[in-house]
Amino acid sequence: MGAYDDIPPAAAALHRSALVFDAHADTLTEMTDRGYDLDAGLPGTHLDLPRCADGVLDAQVLTCFVHPRCLPDGAAARVRALLTTWDRQVARLGDRVALCEGPGEVAAARDAGRLAVVLAIEGGHAIEDDLELLADFRRHGVRTMTLTWNNSNGWADGCGDDGPHGGLTPFGRDVVAAMEELGMVVDVSHAAESTFDDVLACATRPLLASHSCARALREHRRNLHDAQLRALAESGGVACVNFYPHFLVAEGEADVDDVVAHVLRFLEVAGEDHVGLGGDYDGIPVGPKGAEDVTGLPRVTAGLLARGVSERVLRKVLGGNLLRLFDGGVQGAGPKGAIAERRAVEAGGGPSSEGRDDPRVASRGDPRGDHS
Ligand SMILES: [Zn+2]
Repeated sequence: MGAYDDIPPAAAALHRSALVFDAHADTLTEMTDRGYDLDAGLPGTHLDLPRCADGVLDAQVLTCFVHPRCLPDGAAARVRALLTTWDRQVARLGDRVALCEGPGEVAAARDAGRLAVVLAIEGGHAIEDDLELLADFRRHGVRTMTLTWNNSNGWADGCGDDGPHGGLTPFGRDVVAAMEELGMVVDVSHAAESTFDDVLACATRPLLASHSCARALREHRRNLHDAQLRALAESGGVACVNFYPHFLVAEGEADVDDVVAHVLRFLEVAGEDHVGLGGDYDGIPVGPKGAEDVTGLPRVTAGLLARGVSERVLRKVLGGNLLRLFDGGVQGAGPKGAIAERRAVEAGGGPSSEGRDDPRVASRGDPRGDHS
């Protein structure tokens, strides 16, 4: 069945014409470990160039996921292996993919019929506590990084263990500052709530949550409280809905309607300028029914349209907001209102986290599992 066969023509037309930009896929891991290229996926995979065609997906953040088992000294090497896989795509498929690093490049890639790719790192332990390595990855094109995966690292607590730091260490704040200086987007998906709070207190640029869901709909440590969604919006950033059924619903199968429900919640709490999609394809064992792979994306569009989301807002959710974040939002934007105010208060010696209404929910567990 084609990607548009079972949805209303108006939804198909909207999806085709919109810039569709997803914030998180683990396809580089699959390609590296299973040995294939982006022009043809293997059975069980979720994303490849043929499936992105016809406007299904125009731009994708491809992440270099570093499993903690690569520690202590194989983390950076793992990133390099994944970047080598990417380099091979550019060499082989340069007329069909484009690494996007500066303003206008995503739109230009789309206009040229290429998949626009933004490179990312998942798991701050990848930099092996070395800001030179961070800068080196940036030079290789990496534009964003999750500060942690589920595991805590040497400078930031992750959401999946009893982190030792209570958030960011002083070096962790240096990492945030260095990322901003390098023009990288700070990604708080996978971070512990304490880390999230510390990032809010020290970051000056819009933040990203690349692949998380709404905790109000599904209580899970990987999902975001409403207060966190509001804080992300205040930063000028974007929160992107993960398609992993386990994060969408408490039990049983999930389907496209569940993705739609989480997007609606994000819209209600964070506002139309701060919501996107981060499907986590090729990082999740299974997708929701109807969106088992990227060819299901038009059904998400149809579902949102059916629920009354306007075409104008849908274009932002499908990609407009992420385009703003990656297309000048990093290098161009100054400190946003609330964060700038908070920093001014801090500079004046005032309380640093007064009035933040995030409930601390103790739900830490085994950092293994829940790859996504
Ligand atoms: Zn993840």
